[in-house]
Amino acid sequence: MTDPVVREFLLAFWKIHILHHAEEDGVYGQWMLEELRRHGYRLSPGTLYPLLARMARRGWLRSNQPKRSRDARVYRITPAGSDVLKRLRASLAELQHEVAKPDSRRLRRRTARRAAR
Ligand SMILES: [Zn+2]
Repeated sequence: MTDPVVREFLLAFWKIHILHHAEEDGVYGQWMLEELRRHGYRLSPGTLYPLLARMARRGWLRSNQPKRSRDARVYRITPAGSDVLKRLRASLAELQHEVAKPDSRRLRRRTARRAAR
């Protein structure tokens, strides 16, 4: 993964996306690859699987050993993962409010300039 945008930003988006679906219904690798593709992101299994494993090591996801080796490993959110997702949702909403409205941003800057005079 050498694209700096991916490293710096998209990785975080994907992790939030994974937590979101893991909370809804549990996810497994192939499903998540398809879901991310539906959103326009083509990840390789070599990117996604280590990501899932890392999130499990952090305690945000848990998975059980599949009964048969050909069964998919399903990841579900943990209580710690739910807390993280809750915090991230609040941060996202706050950021979205600021970043997605360039008009109000311009207006605020103008107001600030006027106030500084
Ligand atoms: Zn989705």
